[in-house]
Amino acid sequence: MESEHALDGGCFCKAVRLHITGPAMFAGHCHCTDCQKFSGGGHASAIIFATNDVHVSGETASFRYAADSGNHLTRHFCPVCGVHLYHINDAHPQMTTIPAGALDEPALFRPAFSIYGASAQAWDAPDDTLPSFAHMPPRGAIDDA
Ligand SMILES: [Zn+2]
Ligand SMILES: [Zn+2]
Repeated sequence: MESEHALDGGCFCKAVRLHITGPAMFAGHCHCTDCQKFSGGGHASAIIFATNDVHVSGETASFRYAADSGNHLTRHFCPVCGVHLYHINDAHPQMTTIPAGALDEPALFRPAFSIYGASAQAWDAPDDTLPSFAHMPPRGAIDDA
């Protein structure tokens, strides 16, 4: 991310707002089939922040399920307009993943990698200007965003 400053975001109808007070830990694209379904497109463009830096106002609806890894994820949505706002993996509760499009200024998103290229759709190939991984990257293989 370019900004050192606090970031704001939220859903389409503004019933839920996000205020982020710390830097991005990672930012990239994910082409896994879960992200295709939840984004409604070929991939998710997402940013991971420290959970302590993410402040949510307004009630969210949530959906918890077992991901590919076997870990459980909880995805949070606006119950009014349905926009997906963030998710937390039970295995890493200190990290909160926010879709780039949920930011008020999505132009600040600076993707550093793409993952799960093995499940990318032919009509949405991974960005070949970025380090790309067929599945999850090995530990330490991706730089902080
Ligand atoms: Zn909403
Ligand atoms: Zn994914």
